[in-house]
Amino acid sequence: MSARSSQPTPGAALAGLVALVPANAIASLIRKGSGKTSVGTWLLSQASGAGHLLYCGLLSALVVYLWLRLRPAPIARLDFPALLALAALVGWFAVGPDFANFVERTEAVEKVPPGLLGGVFCMVSVVFWVLVARLVARRVPWVMVGVGVALGFANNFLLELDYPGIHLTVGWCGALVATLGFAAEDLRWFRPSRRLVIVMGALAPLAVASLLLRPNEAAWRKLSEAPGAFPAPFISAIVPELSVGRFAEDRNDPWMKRRDGVSATPPSALSPVPPDGIVILLVFDALRADVVDRKKPLVPMPNFERLRKRSVEFSLARSAAPSTLSSITTLFTGKYYSELHAKGSSGEEGGTAGDETPRVPELLAPGVSSFHIFPTRLLDPSRGATRGFESVKVAEKAPSSKVMEKLKSRFAGGIEGPQLIYLHWMDAHSPYDLDGAQGTPKEAYLREVAILDKRLGELLAWLREEKLAERTTLIVTADHGESFGDHGTWEHGKTVYEELLRVPLLIAAPGKKARVVTAPVSTVDIGATILDLFGKPTPGYFMGESLLPLAYGDATQVSHPIAAEAGTKLRAFFATPDIKVIFDRKRKTTEVYDLSVDPGESRNIVDAPEMRVHVGRARRFFSVREVKGAN
Ligand SMILES: [Zn+2]
Repeated sequence: MSARSSQPTPGAALAGLVALVPANAIASLIRKGSGKTSVGTWLLSQASGAGHLLYCGLLSALVVYLWLRLRPAPIARLDFPALLALAALVGWFAVGPDFANFVERTEAVEKVPPGLLGGVFCMVSVVFWVLVARLVARRVPWVMVGVGVALGFANNFLLELDYPGIHLTVGWCGALVATLGFAAEDLRWFRPSRRLVIVMGALAPLAVASLLLRPNEAAWRKLSEAPGAFPAPFISAIVPELSVGRFAEDRNDPWMKRRDGVSATPPSALSPVPPDGIVILLVFDALRADVVDRKKPLVPMPNFERLRKRSVEFSLARSAAPSTLSSITTLFTGKYYSELHAKGSSGEEGGTAGDETPRVPELLAPGVSSFHIFPTRLLDPSRGATRGFESVKVAEKAPSSKVMEKLKSRFAGGIEGPQLIYLHWMDAHSPYDLDGAQGTPKEAYLREVAILDKRLGELLAWLREEKLAERTTLIVTADHGESFGDHGTWEHGKTVYEELLRVPLLIAAPGKKARVVTAPVSTVDIGATILDLFGKPTPGYFMGESLLPLAYGDATQVSHPIAAEAGTKLRAFFATPDIKVIFDRKRKTTEVYDLSVDPGESRNIVDAPEMRVHVGRARRFFSVREVKGAN
């Protein structure tokens, strides 16, 4: 690096980070957050965020100071390689986890450690922005400062509510460019001097205070959902969580304890499935519940409507996880994701293949055969979710038409004996281009949903033609919903808000009357329901219960609490049918919503004293379900 024009100084490093404070404040006024914020909350969140940037600035200044001071003369030329090594290190540990999902899903990089991708991403970003700073803006230092601040500002509008490592990289690059600008300006103030040391010493307590003092929950939430406040998700690791409701207990509630020793529940004797019966579990990937709303469906679904007219419909069903693999694993194990062995390629999340909990097909064997056609590699039985199924693969992300072809050819000679068939249709999964990509993403998605309905018609016709309809009970649901900008996110997997949790759920059995069950239920109940349909008991450790007593008996609700988990760090718990508690352990935030008055989950009422008992119940529920080392 040319010593004269862009040698960073401690003062410039501090200024580079502090320059992002006003950028974040302005962005925070412009960008749409997930809820309404009072002025006090906003000020508190901004003060806290400014403290974090100040802290990072002081730390950088110290690193630069020590580097300039202590490095031996022969390695003076190694400034840039040293910066790259630092970027690789930060990238491996902080950005790597952001790539875990991508690695999990992408065949081409399946064997690559996510940390390597994170390291490369971080290094390439740093190289790019240092080159921009050196080549383009070297002669105009203040433009360089402007570019850096603009980058920090833009960071607020990228990939909301997720990817803290990527936001760290972008924010860091912005601060770096601004730092080089300040350094090139060569202000005397920025050079190591006693004056600077005094200023930094005076600021240090403020920075440390911002680490140790946590504003109220609402302000912390406001701050941690702002992507440009990139230190917050990392600093949250050392900020103590609020102890609100920590000691509330439900000692006598069997669902609030570990269930290892609980005895099995016998079958309900309500099953309409005959001895040679067939159960088809049909999962529409990413089908939001409101798309097939009873009163106002978003797209005409004639076949779904016909099926609904002879089904028991669970109008308030929620998925146990907002992404495919964890949702389906929970469905077939009866355990929430964090109760399963969750050590995957990404270190702490992702794989549950190693967990030995028997899957539903294993619990049905040897009496009941099972068959599964998987259109995404995530559902390959070797990934764990669908272990025990006899299975065939169709092409990756194959449309439902291909799944139907496989189904028809597999059972061309009829179906003998009792059989569980699991079909998973990916048509409505992004990218939304099966019927052309014109219009908004949601419009394109709804056209794909219409394709799903056509395919449902084809499945029902096939069952009739093959004379299987009288033997077949259909369970129709989705693995999770889909987000179209709701709460600032797209697609699924990143939040546990209702747009991702609410799913349709129908059970259609021959000869049974249609009805609507409004009690809240979960996809965690489907495994127990399948076992019950085949007259098998539900193991005591299951977190779900058979839905047949609600569908065909006189039960009015399930006895277990309802929860959902996105990985092990983002969890939702329904303390009552309306009070929903969300813990985000990445950011150390707690949210509470009263869905009866706030169905859009926009007013976090966690700071209200009467919510303590609900937060306490939620905390207790999750505290007995921890994967060791998944902290
Ligand atoms: Zn899915």
